[in-house]
Amino acid sequence: MKYVILGNGIAGVCAAEAIRTLDLEGEIVMVGDETFLPYSRPMISYVLDGSEPHDKLPIRPADFYESMKIKPVLGQRAVSLDVENRRVQLADSTCIDYDRLLIATGADPRPLRAAHMDLGGIFYLRTESHVRQQVAALSTARRALVLGGGLVGLKAAYALLKRGLEVTLLITSGYPLSLQVDEIAGKMVLDELLRRGLKVLVGRSVRAFEGNGVVRAAVTDTGSRLPCDMVIIAKGVLPSRDFIPRQHIHVDLGVVVDDHLQTSAAGIHAAGDVAESVDISRGCRWVNALWPEAAVQGRIAGLNMAGRPVVYPGSMSRNVLRVYDLDVLTLGHANPGPEEGCRIVWSGGPGKGRYRSLVLKDDILVGAVLVNQVEQGGVLCALMENRVPLRLSTSRLMAPDFNFACLLP
Ligand SMILES: Cc1cc2nc3c(=O)[nH]c(=O)nc-3n(C[C@H](O)[C@H](O)[C@H](O)COP(=O)(O)OP(=O)(O)OC[C@H]3O[C@@H](n4cnc5c(N)ncnc54)[C@H](O)[C@@H]3O)c2cc1C
Repeated sequence: MKYVILGNGIAGVCAAEAIRTLDLEGEIVMVGDETFLPYSRPMISYVLDGSEPHDKLPIRPADFYESMKIKPVLGQRAVSLDVENRRVQLADSTCIDYDRLLIATGADPRPLRAAHMDLGGIFYLRTESHVRQQVAALSTARRALVLGGGLVGLKAAYALLKRGLEVTLLITSGYPLSLQVDEIAGKMVLDELLRRGLKVLVGRSVRAFEGNGVVRAAVTDTGSRLPCDMVIIAKGVLPSRDFIPRQHIHVDLGVVVDDHLQTSAAGIHAAGDVAESVDISRGCRWVNALWPEAAVQGRIAGLNMAGRPVVYPGSMSRNVLRVYDLDVLTLGHANPGPEEGCRIVWSGGPGKGRYRSLVLKDDILVGAVLVNQVEQGGVLCALMENRVPLRLSTSRLMAPDFNFACLLP
C-alpha cells in the first residue's frame, strides 16, 4: 500500500502516525512546501512576542521522518491531482502515484487586495518563515499596523506591543473577534485593548500602501493616512485547495468530507484546515480551522486510510483566549444572525466585568460566550456535543451559582 500525504502540518503528521499504528510496512510519502520540521503553528505568535525562541517551534524530533519510515518530499507544492490515474503532480513537474491520498494542505492567509503590496515590511502571519522575517524586522520598526481583529490579529497586535512598538489595530467590522463573539463581548474586548494602550480603528480597511521600497504608510478606505513601518495582515485564512479538480472532488469553501473524512473520491481523504466537515453546533458543513480539530481529523483520517473504519463525530468551534485582564471562552455558533431563530440569554456586560451568553436553538445549546466566568466551559461544551435539551427559564440558566453539570446525562 502506498500512502501519499499532502501537507506536513499537524493534520498530516497525526495521519502518518495513525497509519503507522496499523501498517508498519506500507510506503508513506509526505509532501510539504515548507522545509522546516513539523512545528506548532499557534506558537509562532509567542516567537513574535519574544516569549519563546524560534528553535522551540518543532513538535517532532529531527529524526521524525526516518523513525516513522516516511519519505519526505519537502520544499515542493502539489500543483495538480489526477484522480482517475491516482497521481499527484508537483511544482517541479515530478509525479507521485498513490493508493491512498490525504489532502492535509491546511490554509493560506486570505490575501489583501491593496495597492503596493510588494513594499518591504508588509507581512502575513502564518508560517515559521513569516515570523522569522518579522522578528528580523523588529530592530528597525517603530510603528506597526495590524490588519484584522480576529484571533491571529489580536495575537500579533499584543506581540508587537509587548516588543515596544506603537501599534494600531485596524478592524473592518465594528468590534474585535466578530466571528467568535457577540457585540457585547466584542465591546468588552475592545475597551480592554484601548485601556492597554492599543490604538484601534473599527469599520475601516486599507486600500493602498505608500513607501519607497519599504512601507511608510497605509491609506484607508476613508482616505486617512496611517504612518507605519511594519504591517501584519491577519484577515483570516482560506483552505489551500487550488490544485483540486472540482469535477472529481466536491469542494465548497473547503474540501467536503463525509463522516469517515473521505472526500467524494474513493481513496482520497482530507483533514485539518482544508477540510469541510459537519459542525455539531451549526448542524451543517463548516470549516473549523483549529489546531485540536486538525490533530483529531488527521488521526481519524489516517486510521480510515489504513483500513480501520472510524467515525468522525463532527467539528465544533472552541476558542479560549486571555486579553490582558479578560478571560474569553467561545463555543460553537456563538453569534447567530436574527434570521436563524435562536434564543439568546445573557447576563453581565461592560461595566460588570463579566459576561455570559448562551445561544439556544429548539432548547439545544448551540453556542456560548463567557467572559471572566469561564469555569463551566467544559460542561457547556459537553452539553453542546451531546445535544442535551436545556428546558429551563432564563433566570435559572443565568443564576450565578447554577451548576450545568447536573444536566449532563
Ligand atoms: C498565528 C497563529 C495562531 C494560531 N493559534 C491557534 C490557537 O490558539 N488555537 C487553535 O486551535 N488554532 C490556532 N491556529 C490555527 C492552527 O494553527 C491551524 O488550525 C492548524 O495549524 C491547522 O493544521 P493543518 O495541518 O490542517 O494545516 P497547516 O498547519 O496549514 O499545514 C499544512 C501544510 O501544508 C502545506 N501545503 C499547503 N499547500 C500545499 C500544497 N499544495 N502542496 C504541498 N504542501 C502544501 C503548508 O505549507 C503547510 O505546511 C493558529 C494559527 C496561526 C497562524
